[in-house]
This record gives sequence, C-alpha cells and structure tokens, in this order.
Amino acid sequence: MSPSSGNWRVGIGALLFEGNTLSPVVTELRDFESKYLARGEDVLGSLRGSNTEMAGAIDTLELHAVDIAPLLATHGGAGGRVSAAAHAALTGDLLARLRAAMPLDALYLALHGAFVAQGVDDMEGALLALVREIVGDIPVAVSCDLHAHITTEMVRHADILIGYRHYPHDDTYDTGRRCAGLLLRTLRGQIRPLTVMHKVPMVVPAQKQRTKSDGPMGALHARARAREAAGDVLALSYFPVQPWLDFPDVAFTAVAVTDDDPEGAEQAAADLADAAWRRRHEFDVETVAPAEAIRAGLAVEGGPVVLADAADCTGGGATGDSAVVLAALLEHAPQASAVILIVDPETVAAATAAGIGGRFLARIGNKLDPTYGAPVEAEALVERLVDGGFTYTGGLLGGVTATMGPSAVLRVGAVTVVVASLSSYEYADEQLRAAGVDPWRCKFVVVKNPMNFQQAFADAPAAFTLDTPGPTTPNLARVPWRHWTRPVYPLDFQE
Ligand SMILES: [Zn+2]
Repeated sequence: MSPSSGNWRVGIGALLFEGNTLSPVVTELRDFESKYLARGEDVLGSLRGSNTEMAGAIDTLELHAVDIAPLLATHGGAGGRVSAAAHAALTGDLLARLRAAMPLDALYLALHGAFVAQGVDDMEGALLALVREIVGDIPVAVSCDLHAHITTEMVRHADILIGYRHYPHDDTYDTGRRCAGLLLRTLRGQIRPLTVMHKVPMVVPAQKQRTKSDGPMGALHARARAREAAGDVLALSYFPVQPWLDFPDVAFTAVAVTDDDPEGAEQAAADLADAAWRRRHEFDVETVAPAEAIRAGLAVEGGPVVLADAADCTGGGATGDSAVVLAALLEHAPQASAVILIVDPETVAAATAAGIGGRFLARIGNKLDPTYGAPVEAEALVERLVDGGFTYTGGLLGGVTATMGPSAVLRVGAVTVVVASLSSYEYADEQLRAAGVDPWRCKFVVVKNPMNFQQAFADAPAAFTLDTPGPTTPNLARVPWRHWTRPVYPLDFQE
C-alpha cells in the first residue's frame, strides 16, 4: 500500500448502452432499470461482488484505502436510440453527482463507447468534454466495451482509455481493476499516461470475434498481450466496433496507452490495427437459410441443434421480437420439439388473460419492430406464467439480477415459445431456465446472439447462423449504409 493513498479521493461511475441506428425502437429509462441502475452509495452496495467494471474498481481502490466517490452506474443493454429525456436524465444525474463530489484526485468512468441518443451520435465524446470542464486536469480513466465506436473526442478527453480484452465479455470485472490500477499508478507519479488511436477501414460482423479462439481475434489478443508484457505500452486495446451504426468513421480501431510516449503509442496502435486489416477476410461469416438449416438439423442425431437468429440480437440492439424462425420451424419441422424466446408484451397479456391451461389465438412477434417480418398467427396453449426475474450466470452482467418482465410459456404446435415483456441481454440460457424450460431436452434451440451461444451451447451437436432479416444482421454488405466513410471493407476492398 502506498503511504499516501489513503488521502486520495477517486470518483467512479458507469453509463453503458450499445446503440443500434438500424433499430427504429426508442430506448427508455425502464430499459436501464431492468438491467441495473444504481445511484450514489447504492453503487457500492448493489454492484460489489458482481462481474461489472464497478465491482473491479471498487475492490482495487478499497484494497489501496482510496476514498471512493460513487456517482451513478447503469447498463441499458442495447437498442435503438435512447430517448432525449432518458439521455438527459442519466447524464444530468451523473454530472450533478460529479460536481457535488469535487474536489477529486482522479475519475474512472466505465462507458460503452457506442451510446447513441436522439440527437446525439457520440454520447461518450460529448460527456467526456463536459466531464473535463468539471474536473479540470486530474487523471480521467475510461474503459469501453470491445464494440465501442472510438471517436477523436473520446480520446482527446481521456488520459487512459482501455477496452475489454474478451468477447464474449467475461472480463468486465478485470477491466475495472485494470483501469483503477492504471489510475493508482498515475496518482503515485509512476506513470504519465497518454492515449492514441489508429483506425483501419474495416467493419466486421461479430461471429468470428471470439477472443479465446485460434480465429482472428484470438491472434490479435495474443499480439496485444505480448506488447503489454514487453512493457513498452501500458495497455493496448482492439475495438472491432459495433457494426450497426450508420456514422462516418465507424471502423476497427486500436488504442494504445503509453507512459508519455506518443510515437510509441502511435506505432503500437498502428501495428495492431494493421494486423487486423491483414486478417479482414477471416471475419467473413457464412449464413444459411432457415429452411435449409432446419432440414440439416433434422438429419443430425440428438440435440439441441442451435439456430442462431443473430439478426434479432437484443445484445446488439434488436428488439428480440422476430418470429421469423418460429414460422420456419412450424412450417419445416412441425413435429420437432423446439424452444424460442420472443419479446412480445401484448401476447404475454393475452396469455395472462387466458390463464394457465387456457388456449387462445395468438399473434406472436414482429410488433415492436414490424420492419423485418409479420406476426405468426397460431393457436397457443398457456403452459406457465412466470415473473421473469433471473440472475446472470456470467459475462458482463454476471451476478446481476435482471428481468425479462412478466412472461408466459406457450405451446404452439411442437414449439415452446417463451414470450417476455421486456428485452434482455442473452448471455447463456438464463431466460429459458427462468421460464422453466430446459433447452437441452429440445431438438432445436433458437438463440438470438452471434457469439455467446458458441460458449453456452458449445456441446450442441450442430449450430447454424441463419440468413434472417433484422437490425443486427451479419450480412453487413447488404445494409444500405448512408453515412459510412468509404471505402470500407466489406463494402469495398472485395479483391
Ligand atoms: Zn460488446
């Protein structure tokens, strides 16, 4: 322990949300509350012991007897633009608490890096500019999701900017520890951190971004860790970016933090970004039509065969209300047991009215976001009604108690349809378990994420990434982008 560290006072806060400009659905304050939203001292009470960045920072700072000023901490998951009112309420509260907490010796903020609100394309850059006005020149450390859209404004106002090392994001706690650790070294005068970014013109889908793999991100992970271990950079981070943002300069970004060495930082960031560029084709994804995947799945022995409807990923900003794969299952595998989760508060209400054991004519899905398909009309039997609460078993929300709202388990033909009132981030199979459904007893399980299922259902006999419509499509070249800076891979450079 440093002899003077007990005198330091460090502010901490978290304001995370992953925006998706292809989703027309507006995100509201309740979407933050349904994940986690803690204010003031409650940040310490409610997030300690979780896998969040805040928990990692709290443990590290307390270990060194630093006085913590907790501001506000929330994660709104992912979705369409945050409403202007919710954005103003959250940033206003955070900044008011920051003003009240001054004077501080340092500040740590956990941000996503792709928070978009109505009228605000770069929430993080704008927030950090306001933060800088309040705190002056004290050290400010920022951590971002690996899918952050890093901007010049963000780098300008942060002394330290690092990202999650892993996707799936299981190192959020460790990220908070690393960020707080760099701040402590800065306060002790051991380092003078300086942050530089470097972009390469590529935007890639998420399916091949697993960091604990021998794929392209595994190689970049090893390269970055080797540079850090060599000691010439304090932190080297990769940001393959959340692709569904129709903004200029959305691109794969590398960020280096060095000890007052601008050339070294530029060299390290450029080296990592260029290594990603050379591997760009390795990120390409093969998708399969639902009918074809179902046919192939029926020919496979055992289950569950994973049907990944990655285009309707709530973790990437979709509503989770697509019924496209449900329609395909009813048509192409009417006898096969299957389970699918669909966000549809209207159908939950209808099921609640019908009661357990009741039957009703349901119109399921594609109502919150009608852009990409039509509701499935079918007779439904109400098997169960549940409150929808659950605890995440891992990942960036590991240990956090969340809710999918009042939910119903319906039987539609041979398919078990879990209808939820609220969208929630899919880590493993928490939502299905909370509904009393064991996906391992099914022939097919529909997941709505591009990556996490590769971990949660690693032992499944087969998995297909489907060619389905939606705001989180892996087929990036098919989206009519209006604002992306060109040329950019995979729209261009298809040599
Ligand atoms: Zn992410």
